[in-house]
Amino acid sequence: MPEIVTEKPVVGISACLYDCPVRYNGKRFDAVSSLGREHADFRFMPVCPECMAGFGVPREPIHLTGPGEEVLAGRARVMTRRGRDVTEELVAGAQACVDALSRAGVRVVVLKEESPSCGLFKTKVGNHRERDVRAAGVFGALLTRTGWFLFSDAAFNSPLSWWDWRRRMHAWLWLADRSIATNGELSDAWHVVKFIVQETKRREADEIGRAIAALPRHAAAEELEAIRARILDALRAPTTRERALAALWKSYTYHRKRGTLEGVDLHELTVRSPEVRRNATTLAQELIALERISFENALLFAASPVLYRERRRVRARDEALGRAQDGKER
Ligand code: SF4
Repeated sequence: MPEIVTEKPVVGISACLYDCPVRYNGKRFDAVSSLGREHADFRFMPVCPECMAGFGVPREPIHLTGPGEEVLAGRARVMTRRGRDVTEELVAGAQACVDALSRAGVRVVVLKEESPSCGLFKTKVGNHRERDVRAAGVFGALLTRTGWFLFSDAAFNSPLSWWDWRRRMHAWLWLADRSIATNGELSDAWHVVKFIVQETKRREADEIGRAIAALPRHAAAEELEAIRARILDALRAPTTRERALAALWKSYTYHRKRGTLEGVDLHELTVRSPEVRRNATTLAQELIALERISFENALLFAASPVLYRERRRVRARDEALGRAQDGKER
C-alpha cells in the first residue's frame, strides 16, 4: 500500500515566482500557475529576502563579489550597481525570511534560480562582467544550512520534472516526520522509500541497505538518525527521463504479472514499453495516472510510495474499497 499523507505541505517560495511584483524592476513570474488544480494541494509561503532587507521596489539591482556561502563567511560582499555595500542588510533580510518560514513550519522551499539572493544551484557573480557560478546566492546558501528540502523553479519546467520533485518531496517529508526509535522502524521506513533511491542513486541505495543490515541489534538513536539523514539526503537527487520510464514500466509490468490490476479501473491508461518513444509530457501523464490507480486501489506504485490526498478523499476511497471487499466475500 502507498503511504498517504493528508497534511498539506507548507512550501516556502521566492515571492517573485508566486506572482508578487517584487523584482528590482517591479516584475514578477507566475511559476505555480502551471500546477493547475494541484496548486490547492499546497499552502505557499512567499518571501522576498531583498524586500525584507529594506531595498524596496523598484530598486537598484545588486550583485555579489563571490558565491552566497562566501558572503555568509565574510569573504565576499553584496554591492548595488552604484557601488554601495549592502551585505549586512541582505544577510539580515535573508535571515528574517528563514525565521518567518520556520515559524510557518516550512521545510520545503522553491527558489528563483540565478538570483544573487535566491539562486540555489546557480547564481551570478560580478557586476558589469557577470559570470554564472554553480553555487547558491545569499538566501539560497542560508537555506542550505537548514537541511530543508530545496528545489529551484526549474522544477516547473516540465510536467515530468514537477512529478519527480513532488514525489521526492512527499517522501522526504514523510521520512523526516516519522518516528524512528528502533532498527525495525528504520528498516520499515527504508522499504517504503528505497525504490526512489534505487532509481536515482543505485550505488548509494546499496550502501544504505548494507549500513542498515550492519547496525548492531539495538542501535543507538544517533546511529539510526545518521542513516535517516543519509536517506533524506539521497532523496534530493533528481531522476532522468530514462530512469523514470524504466520505473514506470517496472511497476506496471509487476502489477500486470501479479494480476493485481485485474478488474481495476485503469482510466484508459495504456502504459507502453520503454522502446516506444513518447515525450516527457506523455510520460508524466502515464506516471500520474498510475499514481491515481495506486491510490484508488491501495496498490503500491514503487516510484511514488508516498502520496498526498485530502482526508475526505481517503475516507471515500476506504469506504469504496470496504464495499468492494464485502461484495467479494458474499
Ligand atoms: S530576492 Fe528572491 S524573491 Fe525577491 S525578487 Fe529576487 S529572486 Fe525574487
